[in-house]
Amino acid sequence: MPVCTDSVELGLYTEPPYTLSREASEHPLILVCEHASRFIPPALNDLGLDFEAAREHIAWDIGALALAQRLSEILGVTLLAANYSRLLIDLNRPRHAPDSIPGQSEIYQVPGNQHLDEATREHRRQALFKPFHTRLQTLIDERVARGQAVRVVGIHSFTPIYYGQPRPLEAGVLFGEARQYAQRVIDGLSRHPLKVAGNQPYKIDPLGDMTVPVHGDARGLESVLIEVRNDLLRTPEAIERWAGYLAPLL
Ligand SMILES: [Zn+2]
Repeated sequence: MPVCTDSVELGLYTEPPYTLSREASEHPLILVCEHASRFIPPALNDLGLDFEAAREHIAWDIGALALAQRLSEILGVTLLAANYSRLLIDLNRPRHAPDSIPGQSEIYQVPGNQHLDEATREHRRQALFKPFHTRLQTLIDERVARGQAVRVVGIHSFTPIYYGQPRPLEAGVLFGEARQYAQRVIDGLSRHPLKVAGNQPYKIDPLGDMTVPVHGDARGLESVLIEVRNDLLRTPEAIERWAGYLAPLL
C-alpha cells in the first residue's frame, strides 16, 4: 500500500484536529460541530481563494461554534468541534465523496484543491478526518458499552444568499431515520415566531453525509443536524437567543 509520506503537506497540520469539551458528561446528547473553524495553515495561502467574502462564508459555518459551545455550557454536554476549515477536508462527507475535498464550493473555485495528488488527499484524511471520526466513534462506543442513551446532534449554519438567491428559512432540522426526534425539535422551534422546516435547506443523503447517517442512523441512535441561517448568529445576544430556543429541545 502506498503511504502518504510523499505529500507536500507533510508536517503542516500541527494543531490538534479537534477540540473535545465536557468529555465526561453523562447527558445523552453529544454535540458535533464539523464546520466550526475557518483555520487553514498559513503555508497553504488560503487555498488560493480570491474573494474575502468567499473565504468568509465557504470556509466554515459562521456562528455555529459559538452556538454549539453555548449549548454545551447550558446543558453540560460533550462537544466535539473541528479545528480546521471544511475546505481542507469536509468532516461531514464520507471520506471518498466527490466533494470531500472540494475543488469548487457553491460559486467559488478553490484553486488549492484542484490538482491535489492522492498522497496529499490521503494525508488530509489521516491528519484531519480520521482522528475526528475515530474520536466520535469511541465516545459513542464507550457510552453504549455503559448502557447510556446517546443522541448525536450536528450544529451548522447556512448562508442567507445561495447561488445569488436569498433564503427566507431561518432554521432547518435535517434528519434521516430519526423522524420523531426531528419532529419534536421542529415542533418546539415552531412555538417561536421562526421560519423552520424539516430537511431544508438541505437533505440528509445517506451516501453524501457523514455524521447523521454513519454515527446516528447506522447505529440506531437518534441523530439530527441543526442548520441556522448565519445572519441570525452574528452577536452574543443572538447566540444566546438561539441557544435558548434549542437547549430545551435537544
Ligand atoms: Zn455546515
